[in-house]
Amino acid sequence: MSNPPVYTTSQGCPVSDPFSTQRISVDQKGYQYAPPTGPLLLQDFKLIDSLAHFDRERIPERVVHAKGAGAYGVFEVTDDITDVCSAKFLDTVGKKTRIFTRFSTVGGEKGSADSARDPRGFATKFYTEDGNLDLVYNNTPIFFIRDPTKFPHFIHTQKRNPATNLKDANMFWDYLTANPESLHQVMYLFSNRGTPASFRKMNGYSGHTYKWYNAKGEWQYVQVHFISNQGVHNLLDDEAGKLAGEDPDFHTGDLYKAIERGDYPSWECYIQTMTLEQSKKIPFSVFDLTKVWPHKDFPLRHFGRFTLNENPKNYFAETEQVAFSPSHTVPGMEPSNDPVLQSRLFSYPDTHRHRLGTNYSQIPINCPLKSGVFAPHIRDGAMVVDGNLGGTPNYAGAYNCPVQYAVGAKASGSKPDEKYEGEVVPFHWTVVDYDFYQPKMFWKVLGRTEGEQESLVKNVAGHILSADEFIQDRVFEYFSKAEPIIGELIRKEVHKLSPRKDSPARL
Ligand code: NDP
Repeated sequence: MSNPPVYTTSQGCPVSDPFSTQRISVDQKGYQYAPPTGPLLLQDFKLIDSLAHFDRERIPERVVHAKGAGAYGVFEVTDDITDVCSAKFLDTVGKKTRIFTRFSTVGGEKGSADSARDPRGFATKFYTEDGNLDLVYNNTPIFFIRDPTKFPHFIHTQKRNPATNLKDANMFWDYLTANPESLHQVMYLFSNRGTPASFRKMNGYSGHTYKWYNAKGEWQYVQVHFISNQGVHNLLDDEAGKLAGEDPDFHTGDLYKAIERGDYPSWECYIQTMTLEQSKKIPFSVFDLTKVWPHKDFPLRHFGRFTLNENPKNYFAETEQVAFSPSHTVPGMEPSNDPVLQSRLFSYPDTHRHRLGTNYSQIPINCPLKSGVFAPHIRDGAMVVDGNLGGTPNYAGAYNCPVQYAVGAKASGSKPDEKYEGEVVPFHWTVVDYDFYQPKMFWKVLGRTEGEQESLVKNVAGHILSADEFIQDRVFEYFSKAEPIIGELIRKEVHKLSPRKDSPARL
């Protein structure tokens, strides 16, 4: 390409005047200011090419995690964990792997404010020699649901009312209070961690339980923690609200500018591990996404560090088109039977096929460039850009196309895997007393730092002010399940901020 480049159509045809259009030239005698031209011509490909492409610039935004920012970086193994995991990219201390991380808010649209109270997505793609591994995490160690069928219901209530197109405190709290297994995550969300000061200053958690295998085929349940080397820093509710108005893209800019000035953010990577035997003795299910594994019983073990040190060159090509899925995994790492995780294995690639097309893995940001791909039956479809394997037979096992099959780590396995046998049943996870134990522990953790419990109370009270009084009453009751004092404090704060008909001052 010449420098400076010659302006062309999308087909490479040089164009002498990008701003001209082909029109019929007519004699405009008598019109002093009107140009001497008539209607446009359909043959003006330059104009049609430009307008038609412009009309198609937008792809569907992600239904969740629409607003995000990302960067490239490097992951380095710091400690040997080959006794737990045989993934090749972890096999040597000091080994480095290129990554791309995307942070996001969850409920807001693409133009929404970065500082909104919301969990944050924290997804990382590792370009490994065994294919791409996606660790698709959040900045909270737990989640609102554990029955995957609830997900669309739950998300709808956190988005917009179908009639008014407004966020709706009644919908928001109606759902949550009717599904009290959400309480642990709701307490986390309404603590100051619900409004992080920066993407750089928050932790990432797998939340789900995974299964990692060593080279002998022995496996353990694993949870992963990414702990920020920048520390955890949060905004107070009014600071977050102010920022949403003054600089709604603050977190996006904060990440970009930090990397541009060489202030590279980094995270230490840890695992918690649990054996099958241990999982039978804990007072909750290892597949319950609303629970954490207590640190004292399942201590963190360090294994790596990653640093983000390179901004994408083009937001749409990289950050918008990056396609993460927990089903993009590598030998040595498998999903557990956590039902929410199992449903995500389907839902994420399904979204990418819808948003980006069936060949989304051919988009450079999603290509497993380090491993290469040889799946001769995965051919054709919209937007093939990689040569489509030329004349290679389009099935495996062709006489003229010998294929090697890898020997999996599990093939030499010595430990029995999980066994399941039973009837097919409609399962809906029942709420039990233990579901409120960890929220109670969380309230205690907040009590270790001055002002944190008060923030939780204020943040909830401020949010429910616009809800109907009967919904507010349900919210008081809901938080009281963790500790009666929480519901009471929220009630008092609501009465103070906006006296109701039953407020003490009015009785
Ligand atoms: P610990 O006392 O060992 O751990 C409590 C953890 O809470 C800390 O390590 C820290 O995790 C996190 N934390 C500290 N201050 C705050 C805060 N102001 N806001 C939010 N989180 C904070 O106890 P347990 O492991 O037994 O957990 C007790 C409770 O702590 C749990 O019920 C859960 O609600 C919460 N928690 C537990 C986590 C876990 O994985 N065990 C992780 C986060 C919270 P970190 O270093 O990851 O920030």
